[in-house]
Amino acid sequence: MSVKVEKAPEKFEIPKGLFVETVTSVQHYTESLFKFRITRPASFRFRSGEFVMIGLPNAEKPVFRAYSIASPSWDEEIEFYSIKVPDGPLTQHLQKVRAGDSILMRKKPTGTLVNDALLPGKRLYMFATGTGIAPFASLIRDPDTYEKFDQLILCHTCRQVAELRYGHELVAALKDDPLVGDLAVQRLIHYTTVTREDFPFQGRQTDLMASGKLFDDLGLPPLSVADDRAMICGSMDMLRDTKAALEGFGLQEGSNSKPATFVVERAFVG
Ligand SMILES: Cc1cc2nc3c(=O)[nH]c(=O)nc-3n(C[C@H](O)[C@H](O)[C@H](O)COP(=O)(O)OP(=O)(O)OC[C@H]3O[C@@H](n4cnc5c(N)ncnc54)[C@H](O)[C@@H]3O)c2cc1C
Repeated sequence: MSVKVEKAPEKFEIPKGLFVETVTSVQHYTESLFKFRITRPASFRFRSGEFVMIGLPNAEKPVFRAYSIASPSWDEEIEFYSIKVPDGPLTQHLQKVRAGDSILMRKKPTGTLVNDALLPGKRLYMFATGTGIAPFASLIRDPDTYEKFDQLILCHTCRQVAELRYGHELVAALKDDPLVGDLAVQRLIHYTTVTREDFPFQGRQTDLMASGKLFDDLGLPPLSVADDRAMICGSMDMLRDTKAALEGFGLQEGSNSKPATFVVERAFVG
């Protein structure tokens, strides 16, 4: 049974292992994309790039889904960047949240798109499609990422230009960020491409890597095991193809327990 999204009922019993947090702001970008921010519980710790399970207090057994935390680990609030699936069990309701509404969040974050899962290197490539930009929105706002890598390259590809807006606004706002503003201006490259509309940069990241255009556009040499590290976040197909491309350059997949030269995480299942 599901009911209208609203504040958690006063007598809502908070199950163990769950935080009940309050939405502080919501911004819609397209018919299928929006961002929202929630209060951060004082005891909630995570590493930039991790994900957590979230849900709504709108049913006896709420639906929980994995969400990358888009804000950095030092932020006072938690930010999420979300798809709106028309009949999606969670997002058909989640897309209607407003400031003041309640969000349920499981207490244990996890994930592989973390600086610790990569060996030190010169450059960090972040390859994202669609909402796969979310974990990187966290990492590019974290001073630790600039400490570990000299240069950060955020590659974001969407079908349409409007779907790049969250990333463009995020990077534009970084220059005023008190913690990483100067670092980002000097050391972050944001490379955006579109696959289904006219745009100065077009095509899939894997094709652009294969042709060498991606590296020509960036003014950087092709990937090397000595200098380059990478993180990938997108659909299953995108992960498979990008992983194969990186392996073609000699990079190897790592994990929290065995850091290596690239790491991978699904942006969604299906
Ligand atoms: C590790 C991990 C991290 C995730 N982080 C995010 C995130 O930061 N933001 C986010 O919006 N989603 C994220 N997801 C997906 C999320 O868990 C849900 O699938 C999504 O919120 C839709 O939930 P739903 O219940 O409405 O529909 P679901 O039943 O979960 O999905 C229905 C269908 O919608 C499509 N779909 C689902 N999510 C997406 C998406 N993000 N982009 C494109 N198509 C999609 C798929 O085809 C899926 O089969 C993540 C998933 C994983 C595994």
